[in-house]
Amino acid sequence: MQGLVIRSQSGFYTIETEIGQLICHLRGKLQKERIHGDLVAIGDWVDFTPLDDHTGVIEKIITRKCMISRSAPISRKAKSDDTTSTGSDFNRSYQQILIANPDQLVLVFSITKPTPRFGMIDRFLVISEKQDVPVFIVVNKIDLISKELAETYFAPYKDLDYDVIYTSAFSGQGLEDLMNRLQAKVSLLTGPSGAGKTSLLNSIQPGLGLEVRQVSHVTSKGRHTTVVRQLFPLDGGGYVADTPGLKALAFWDIKPEELDGYFPEIRKLVANCQFSDCSHSHEPGCAVLKAVQEGIIHPKRYSSYLRIRYGDVE
Ligand code: GDP
Ligand code: ZN
Repeated sequence: MQGLVIRSQSGFYTIETEIGQLICHLRGKLQKERIHGDLVAIGDWVDFTPLDDHTGVIEKIITRKCMISRSAPISRKAKSDDTTSTGSDFNRSYQQILIANPDQLVLVFSITKPTPRFGMIDRFLVISEKQDVPVFIVVNKIDLISKELAETYFAPYKDLDYDVIYTSAFSGQGLEDLMNRLQAKVSLLTGPSGAGKTSLLNSIQPGLGLEVRQVSHVTSKGRHTTVVRQLFPLDGGGYVADTPGLKALAFWDIKPEELDGYFPEIRKLVANCQFSDCSHSHEPGCAVLKAVQEGIIHPKRYSSYLRIRYGDVE
């Protein structure tokens, strides 16, 4: 039998199945493999064996079509115990999976309060390019500023053919569009705290935002953080998941040399660079540098490229 993992908490997984929801654990032999990351994630389809007491055992994880993951952050306690720490806040040998098989990634930012950080948007766009997951950007709090100004601000993304929608949880603008885009799909929502994710979810389905937030709070309480991840069902079909406590996004499997392939405006120029291994940072005959100088590539996007390539995490 197969089921969909809709909640993961401390080694227990709630799966949605044709015989209802079951809480499952992993078959022991799956856990014996050397662990380089989360073995099961929300959004996974799994083979399971039901047991008599409304629980079950996960036997096998069906091959994922894509996933959104990052290097696991190191908790403060683990860090202070680690005398070999190089100052990095991430465990580069453990892959934390935020969601498996999402249909789309939804980046929620507000036009102001807080001001959007392009660096964060760009990191998520890179992951969506690498994993080939559709993505769109929600610009919330559009009641606070003129739409024209907001459009100018986000024009670099529109120019790159990323979808940008403008919403206000207060005035209702854009909410129908947002709801239609979420319907019948599995979406991972992400964005800085305060952008209005909770308010937006509450406006499209009463109570949904609060439900999502409650789970997020469990996550960040206390010293020993239990990571709870959950897919929340939408009334009209589909699911949304949140990324609680996501302050930074350290890439898991993106090599510096392949990064230019995940910036569409850079990707289309690399063939014109003089050197095939051009890093687009200083080389003579670099078509990318030329495009930056000519204003064809947006300076903020180029500086994101450099920051990601040369190792800054945000
Ligand atoms: P979250 O942290 O992303 O879940 O953000 P919240 O939904 O909690 O919203 C953060 C703050 O922004 C709250 O004070 C909300 O009332 C406010 N807020 C949310 N959406 C809007 C909006 O569309 N317009 C305005 N003006 N404020 C909003
Ligand atoms: Zn180049």
